[in-house]
Amino acid sequence: MLKGIAASQGIALAKVYKLQQPVLNIVKTEASENESEKLENAFIKTISDIEKVKERAASNLSEEELAIFDAHLMMANDPEIKDQILYMINEEKVNAEFATQSVSNSTISMFESMDDAYFKERAADVKDVMFRLQCNLVGVEIPDLTAINEEVVIVAEDLTPSDTAQLNKKYTLGFATQIGGRTSHSAIMARSLEIPAVVGVKDILNTAKHGDFVILDAIEGNVYLNPSEDLKSEFIKKAEEFKAEKEALKVLKNEKSITLDGHEVELAGNIGTPKDVTGVIDNGGDGVGLYRTEFLYMDSEDDFPDEEAQFLAYKEVLEAMDGKKVVIRTLDIGGDKKLSYFEFPEEMNPFLGYRAVRFCLDRTDIFKTQLRALIRASAYGQLCIMFPMIATLNEFRSAKKLFDEEKEKLIAEGVKIGDKIEVGIMVEIPAAAVLADRFAKEVDFFSIGTNDLVQYSMAADRMSEKVSYLYQPLNPSLLRLIKMAIDGAHKEGKWCGMCGEMAGDIIAAPVLLGLGLDEFSMSATSILNTRKMIRSLKKSDMEKLAEEALNLDTAEEVEELVKNTLK
Ligand code: PEP
Ligand code: MG
Repeated sequence: MLKGIAASQGIALAKVYKLQQPVLNIVKTEASENESEKLENAFIKTISDIEKVKERAASNLSEEELAIFDAHLMMANDPEIKDQILYMINEEKVNAEFATQSVSNSTISMFESMDDAYFKERAADVKDVMFRLQCNLVGVEIPDLTAINEEVVIVAEDLTPSDTAQLNKKYTLGFATQIGGRTSHSAIMARSLEIPAVVGVKDILNTAKHGDFVILDAIEGNVYLNPSEDLKSEFIKKAEEFKAEKEALKVLKNEKSITLDGHEVELAGNIGTPKDVTGVIDNGGDGVGLYRTEFLYMDSEDDFPDEEAQFLAYKEVLEAMDGKKVVIRTLDIGGDKKLSYFEFPEEMNPFLGYRAVRFCLDRTDIFKTQLRALIRASAYGQLCIMFPMIATLNEFRSAKKLFDEEKEKLIAEGVKIGDKIEVGIMVEIPAAAVLADRFAKEVDFFSIGTNDLVQYSMAADRMSEKVSYLYQPLNPSLLRLIKMAIDGAHKEGKWCGMCGEMAGDIIAAPVLLGLGLDEFSMSATSILNTRKMIRSLKKSDMEKLAEEALNLDTAEEVEELVKNTLK
């Protein structure tokens, strides 16, 4: 068995299709008379090849994914690259193949050395286009994945953007790559194509042979080559179960998140970038319950993102969610989240230090820019803004005052804004949970951040493996704090959500439902499973369960209670 990272869930059993890119042995020779013509023809063929690939991929990919080929076409049509090659042919009197390889190498290193992450990533695209061009010059065919006409699992070092785009889902049951991680290009593509994939499988190229039989377990991240008949049968069964479960969940995509006794809750998705919205929509999310805007700041290379860049990102999410609720959290930076262009002060306990709303209330210039961008974006959907790491009412009041001031200014400037922007807080510091009844008089909503609420309640660093046993969201102490937040909100007619990992935990969900949680926000792929669970429960039964759980001694007892109740 070979081990890798499960990048796109599923199980596949099929023959190995070993994808090996041709190795080009390019040698430097003296330029002949027709080098320029050769080059011209190779460019023409490259452009037409990319157009064909794009055409074939059109049925598999979204508009956004297809845009990759427009970028490739732009590169292939870029006169600068061609001019550089021609210049070398004419000045250095070398053959077109050698000149192309040199220009290709220098262009790729130029992209790879760029500071901007976006351009750095484009190096893979440059490589892709230039390799095609070189193959066309040499007259070597690039393996045509669209020619595959039997069920296979592709094994490759990595898949280029155009490889993934050519995959025909009918025959490509999955792929395993030797390099790459969960966020590599091929992993992202696999998830959007919903093809099982295991990436970063060391040694797979040496071990797997074309035509071998393979089991790709992209749930656990394992690859079995030439398995026994018993193992095959075991995985055929597992694959069927997985498929059936996934299919069964899909029917819930447009269903309500409603209990058997008619109580409806909202199941929303957590996102880090506007692109993640697709996952929330595909998994039937009722909204976005947490947009962690710090990624916008962390991805920015040399300064805080300006108002316009932020406005466009927030607008994109609101528009994509088409009127559904979108909760955007203001900057939660500091702690373990650093910025390359800003030096945070050295502190003994950064998690307890200058971070999140504490930073924003100190650097109101940065905070106001974000608030303006948010308020402007509110015209495009149903926006809720929440402040992270609120400990005291005065912190909330100060943040809210800045919000009100910026809103008034924008109105005076004649800017169109949404009718009702809700302003709430994250309940992730025990002090805020304990005083929830007072907070609830002034905020529009709460969202409980259990990742930090557990950390601060247990005084256990969430980054430390040694004390990870104290991550106990089901501990009755935590459940009591959660109850305080929910009851506090409800007493004032406000709603209470949860956006920490606990919200997507299938054992916690029944208790949270019983405690009266209104909104559960989780990673998109957990939504349908949770919906299934909610639809199988009675709120009244879960109220009794929660009551009992609150009176137990330990997290283990609560877990057992839930398991026994649901049996
Ligand atoms: C939390 O603390 O529960 C939370 C959702 O925020 P983060 O994980 O970003 O701190
Ligand atoms: Mg937090």
